[in-house]
Amino acid sequence: MGAKNSLAGLTVVEIRDGLRNGDFTVGELVDDHIHAAERAKNLNGYITETPDLAKDMASKSDDKISRQELGSLEGVPVAVKDLFCTKGIRTTAASKILDNFVPTYESRVTENLWGAGAVLMGKANMDEFAMGSSNITSAYGPAINPWKRESDGDDLAPGGSSGGSAALVSAGVVPVAIGTDTGGSIRQPAAFCGVVGVKPTYGRCSRWGTIAFASSLDQAGPITRSVHDAAIVLEAMSGHDRRDTTSVDRPVPQFEKFLSQSIKGLKVGIPKEYLSDSLPTEINKLWGDGGQWFKESGAELVDISLPHTKYALPSYYIVAPAEASSNLARYDGVKYGMRVSDKSLEQQYSKTRGSGFGPEVKRRIMIGTYVLSAGYYDAYYIHAQKVRRLILEDFNSAFKKVDIILTPTTPNESFGLRDKLDDPVAMYLNDIFTVPASMAGLPAISVPCGLSGTGLPLGLQLIGPAFEESRLFQFGEKLERAAEFSKQPSSYVG
Ligand code: GLN
Repeated sequence: MGAKNSLAGLTVVEIRDGLRNGDFTVGELVDDHIHAAERAKNLNGYITETPDLAKDMASKSDDKISRQELGSLEGVPVAVKDLFCTKGIRTTAASKILDNFVPTYESRVTENLWGAGAVLMGKANMDEFAMGSSNITSAYGPAINPWKRESDGDDLAPGGSSGGSAALVSAGVVPVAIGTDTGGSIRQPAAFCGVVGVKPTYGRCSRWGTIAFASSLDQAGPITRSVHDAAIVLEAMSGHDRRDTTSVDRPVPQFEKFLSQSIKGLKVGIPKEYLSDSLPTEINKLWGDGGQWFKESGAELVDISLPHTKYALPSYYIVAPAEASSNLARYDGVKYGMRVSDKSLEQQYSKTRGSGFGPEVKRRIMIGTYVLSAGYYDAYYIHAQKVRRLILEDFNSAFKKVDIILTPTTPNESFGLRDKLDDPVAMYLNDIFTVPASMAGLPAISVPCGLSGTGLPLGLQLIGPAFEESRLFQFGEKLERAAEFSKQPSSYVG
């Protein structure tokens, strides 16, 4: 239940206008968001809350406002996935192995946010090391989806891995949360929680200071309650960083400008490979509605083919674990994080890693070391890299014919927290529609567009050409407007 007269629940645009007009102070705004977090404790959305820091940042922000120095996110309360290093604030990656880790530096993306005036409210819950699609792999217990089925009151998965981030935004606890997306971890939870999530082009946001899962895929991005808000936040997060050699030195457009641009005469691609017999009729129907809404806005629908789509998920589950096994080799109990001491160094490594990592992380490390081993490297890893190239080429030829691609975000609605626990492959299938854009490094957005028969949110995904996030906002705004998705979840506290 929302609290009367609470400022929690405002969007970034509303906060910007309210502060400019002097309707409230950042101090008041932040206090209301701290109270909203108290009302939403049952969602387990935060691993660490930072109310004192938030109040401090708020008072600095109010001082800036009194001097008319407003940043683009001035005073905006933000939750940050606990994968971004925050200086002096515990950063766990939702893993026991980093339970006591307090970074001595700030990630570039969060540094950009604070530079724009945003206020840190806390570190959001997630799947351990961003591996998962339900939040169930968090060492701190899963975040809970604020939405429930109409028929029962069961706790449902907020999606993953940025499930805490999506749950907090959906419940009205914060207007903005930052997530990361390696194979779908921003878009899938956004779809499950009825909010907007953007994975930008690989290289748009710096990965510096973001704990690595699969370095060639990981990207930071915003989760918000509107497409407009996502455009504002992505612009603030983005930019070249010489400390990350994969961050790209290109100007960051003013994304907001594209929201109102017409899509008349532009072409929307509908990939036939995303259509399958196992796709629930209601998701198929929503996808059709999305196409129809675009047509009504003057765009043209074009059937396209992305022939290597079916290889995207299997090759992702080679590339991502391979990179993860190498990235996670650094957690050895020596330099930082948890340590289980032993007389022998080898035993110390083994005991630290054995008790510090959860089962899904161990599974990924084992798959990764296997596919990178001398005997199997050519058969698996090299092959997966070749397939990855073909997936990118599919998209490149499609974008010669169309301006944007429309697909469902997920093949299913949210599910019970423990539903897919015993079947990792069923869990991996959640990412079937999100992984291709990740493998190709392309930008994509999930926009909440409707409700399932059981009353749960469903999202549609737009995929754009590299560095054309502007198009995601231009088309995304049209989807959002036509879908008129306005229902709030039962656990809404804003
Ligand atoms: N669910 C996918 C996985 O577990 C994607 C995770 C992510 O994007 N971080 O690998």
